[in-house]
Amino acid sequence: MVRDVVRYPDRRLKTPAASIGTPGPADLRLAEDLRDTAQSYPRTVGIAAPQIGAMWRMAYVDCGQHKKVADPHPPFWLIDPEVTSADGQEVGREGCLSLPEITANVRRATEITVDYTDLQGERKQITTAGFEARVILHEIDHLDGVLILDRVSSLLLDVFPRKRR
Ligand SMILES: [Zn+2]
Repeated sequence: MVRDVVRYPDRRLKTPAASIGTPGPADLRLAEDLRDTAQSYPRTVGIAAPQIGAMWRMAYVDCGQHKKVADPHPPFWLIDPEVTSADGQEVGREGCLSLPEITANVRRATEITVDYTDLQGERKQITTAGFEARVILHEIDHLDGVLILDRVSSLLLDVFPRKRR
């Protein structure tokens, strides 16, 4: 089901989400809602549960349609993700469904390994780089109540108005 997206400055976006552990039926419904909501916005590459008002540590990532990703993983869900290694640094421009008026320059690691639980409740590991790594780190930030505005070096120099669609 497509859900309303929570927009800045809603306090939920600044609130850390709770761990899920082994996913149950309600978590699987949340997973479907995340996918449906992400797919309802063109060019959306990821969404985190707090962005639809669900304060649980789950995110959905789909870089398949994005031109910057040559060999993306199929769409997947991350439950209780933990970054176990991060290398490199790069500044890149990011947007966010919860901050539709802006984009921002954000410094992130370029190569990461992340442990997470999948929808079957199995602990998995993903290693990825570049844009897909950036997307995953952006979504994990949402689970910690961190937004791109919290990550910029300068609110004056690194935040840009986005043209209305
Ligand atoms: Zn976001």
